[in-house]
Amino acid sequence: MAWNDVYGHDDAKRLLRVHLASREVPGAYLFVGPEGVGKRKLALEMARALNCTAEEGQRPCDQCPTCAQIMKGGHPDVHLLLPGGASDQVKIESVRQLLGRFALRPFNAAVQVALIDGAHRLTEEAANALLKALEEPSRSARFLLTTSRLADCLPTIVSRCQLVRCGPLPADVVRHLLTDLHGCDPRTAEAASRLSAGSVSRALELAGRWDAYQRTLARLGAEQLQTEWLERGLPETRQEVAQLLEEMTAWLRDVAVAAAGSPEQIAHTEHGEALRTQAAAMDVDRCVDTAFELLSLRESLEQFVSPRLVASLAREKWLSLLGA
Ligand SMILES: [Zn+2]
Repeated sequence: MAWNDVYGHDDAKRLLRVHLASREVPGAYLFVGPEGVGKRKLALEMARALNCTAEEGQRPCDQCPTCAQIMKGGHPDVHLLLPGGASDQVKIESVRQLLGRFALRPFNAAVQVALIDGAHRLTEEAANALLKALEEPSRSARFLLTTSRLADCLPTIVSRCQLVRCGPLPADVVRHLLTDLHGCDPRTAEAASRLSAGSVSRALELAGRWDAYQRTLARLGAEQLQTEWLERGLPETRQEVAQLLEEMTAWLRDVAVAAAGSPEQIAHTEHGEALRTQAAAMDVDRCVDTAFELLSLRESLEQFVSPRLVASLAREKWLSLLGA
């Protein structure tokens, strides 16, 4: 059964199967959860289950031509609006085109399916155009939306969708995916999965720059105050600055955990000694406050504040925490 190819999310899969078995499938679903946990994969399985030609209870079968064609991404009745391209927004033209296609009969499937990956990317105009279709659902069309940013979705869209929660994956599931599907070495996979907050894409991103990441951690945890790297080596791109802020925040979280005497909850287990030393030397309340300030700086990066400015503000906060 193809549902087994989607790791974790047992409650979500159970809900979808109940709907399929009862033949009361809502006109629209919104799969909600963090980046990199498999929301799109789960939505694609639902698209296959809706159109699979195998016996009821066996869908999606992974064997029939429809299942195979949807998996390859070339089925004429399954329309994918995926992130990427010059503009990351989903514009009204794309929604109009989709609804125009939905007004016609399915080409050869039971129902037409639209998978909008990243519903927060819909412009207001596009969301309003989509809303009309969600208000008058057709029996031969289904909408599968995903988002990692529920608060940025139009509330009227959210209220017309059946929500499907896709939470973080357990660390052992992430580790298994890294070693078995992505060929990571077991040690890196083990450590990256622990730091991934349940996101495969986050774990892969960390594993892909593991050595550089370890260098940053060594600097953050150095017993001797090391500030030269902050003076000269500040990152400049939005992505690099975001990474540094996330690394600083995760490190401070561990300093606070070490100070609270909960070693089993430390994420950077291989840096336990450095964390305990810093925890003993730092004011833990300030450490937590700084972590929250860094988090809000991380959010300001999404508001198109200059990455250089954000990086230098983060540096000031770090130096001030260290008493430099
Ligand atoms: Zn099938």
